[in-house]
Amino acid sequence: MQTPKIVILGAGYGGLITSRQLEKTLKNGEAEVTLINKHDYHYISTQLHKTGAGTAPDEKITLHIPDLLKTGKVQFKRGTVQNVNFTAKKVQLESGEVIDYDYLMIGLGFDVSTFGIPGVEENAFKIKSFRSTKAIHNHMLRQFAAFKEDQDPSRLTFAVAGAGFTGIEMIGELIEAMPKLCRKYDIPVSETRIINIEAYETVLPGFDQKAIDFTAGYLRKNGVELMTSTKILECSPTSITLDNGEELPSRTLIWSGGVRGNTLLEELALPISKGRIVIDKFLRVKGMDNVFCIGDAALFLKNDGTPLPPTAQVAIQQAEVCGPNLVATLRGQQLKAFEYHHKGTVASIGNKAAVGKVFGLKISGLFAALMKQVIEARYLFVLGGPGLVIKQLFRAGKPQS
Ligand code: FAD
Repeated sequence: MQTPKIVILGAGYGGLITSRQLEKTLKNGEAEVTLINKHDYHYISTQLHKTGAGTAPDEKITLHIPDLLKTGKVQFKRGTVQNVNFTAKKVQLESGEVIDYDYLMIGLGFDVSTFGIPGVEENAFKIKSFRSTKAIHNHMLRQFAAFKEDQDPSRLTFAVAGAGFTGIEMIGELIEAMPKLCRKYDIPVSETRIINIEAYETVLPGFDQKAIDFTAGYLRKNGVELMTSTKILECSPTSITLDNGEELPSRTLIWSGGVRGNTLLEELALPISKGRIVIDKFLRVKGMDNVFCIGDAALFLKNDGTPLPPTAQVAIQQAEVCGPNLVATLRGQQLKAFEYHHKGTVASIGNKAAVGKVFGLKISGLFAALMKQVIEARYLFVLGGPGLVIKQLFRAGKPQS
């Protein structure tokens, strides 16, 4: 009998932790496992806002994938997935290469939702991947350099669309970055503007009132202009049109208005709802015994019919069940139903402040910022043990700005 082939698509939180689970659970030679990802590095998505603002060195945000695979049981292949033929059990890569599988795990993550607002897709910057956030920072550097020449205020007007979790984290990093950038280019900080535009009436919709008040106060204290209850109607390379009639001269709109599943998923012949693949309680694609899907790409409905949110916390917990379930499937054993345990949410506002709730306890300020760092360190621990935590903590390299 041929050795069964397991193929994992995407080396994000879901794909990597599933791979680590397979490394732990599979016996030597029990299956051939291939992990496929666009790049040979894993980016820590929960810290992409730091790459955008240039407040963390690249080495802190990206990890070389082959270094994370320790046992030789999982092979890494760099490639971009283009299509999947579920009948023939073949994955088609952009390079033309075709990979056969017996069991498949889809962990292709998220795309940004721009809701068809004119000009946003073409002109706004997205917090989506390491490359897209690196593009934000490079653009900011160009604007500072050009301002020295033409003094056009639109160059130093940085707008963030969305005051949800990601938008607030992005704004927090911009607050940290601005004084350093101004020093570098010898421009007074008073020449810069950070504007947060949110359609809802408060920042951090869904958070409790104390967290909302703390965040709004912190942003205002640090000079951020909050435009809540304001919708963006259009975006051009040099301005943003708002529903209050204002035309905001700005060459930088950072879009964090929402996420959806990877757009590639819609081209696959799979059950899709709200841009995500519908999965069952065992994390299998609905109606398929040999195809699993987790993380932001997956739509998992809780008992009350509401979907789990697209978070790293969900992706990691699902991967911890998905790995063993893949092994149970190939061994013909009973699968485990997935149960989500929410441990809390902490949104950072730069390095020195954060807000959230951990194990039911509301936290804010510096203590919350330290908790956020503990949460990030825990992920590194799960991925690579204490060695990786220490390596990343003391990683050399200066922030970009
Ligand atoms: P991803 O981590 O997005 O991984 C998908 C992988 O698939 C990537 O490596 C990508 O390169 C690869 N890929 C995509 N398309 C292809 C293709 N066609 N071919 C090959 N490879 C492909 N969640 C939290 O729980 N807590 C937080 O504090 C938090 N903060 C966040 C802050 C920011 C700025 C952002 C953007 C997100 C944050 N999230 C947070 C959400 C979290 O990052 C996501 O929920 C998580 O990354 C989802 O993991 P995933 O494995 O499903 O997908």
